Amino acid sequence: MSDCLFCKIVAGSIKANVVYDDDEVLAFHDLNPQAPLHVLVIPKRHVENLNALDDAELGGHLLRVAAQIAHQHGYAERGYRTVINCNADGGQTVFHLHVHLLAGRALHWPPG
Ligand code: AMP
Ligand code: ZN
Repeated sequence: MSDCLFCKIVAGSIKANVVYDDDEVLAFHDLNPQAPLHVLVIPKRHVENLNALDDAELGGHLLRVAAQIAHQHGYAERGYRTVINCNADGGQTVFHLHVHLLAGRALHWPPG
């Protein structure tokens, strides 16, 4: 999608601090981090949000990559959170599916 911010990051026309890259998935640091580690894991192909995800394998891959990044940064034992915001009530602001990976501080529940 030509006017999508995260598609532009995949294409390389907008820079990001990339931490993981394979054929299907890209992960990069969030521009406005909400925890000491805040990474976004996205599919390389444009998927608007979780409502539009029809590929269970891709969904599983996004989560496995998030867990792998948490492990590489030393947060597997201590813990971390993964979040997928969907549409208005979910707080989605960028309409290209992404998994937030948050780690490095105790996170509250329920979320705001
Ligand atoms: P959401 O509100 O779930 O749609 O999350 C969108 C996230 O994208 C927010 O946490 C933003 O800080 C982040 N974000 C927006 N623009 C960029 C960018 N250019 N590079 C990295 N993260 C971004
Ligand atoms: Zn996109």
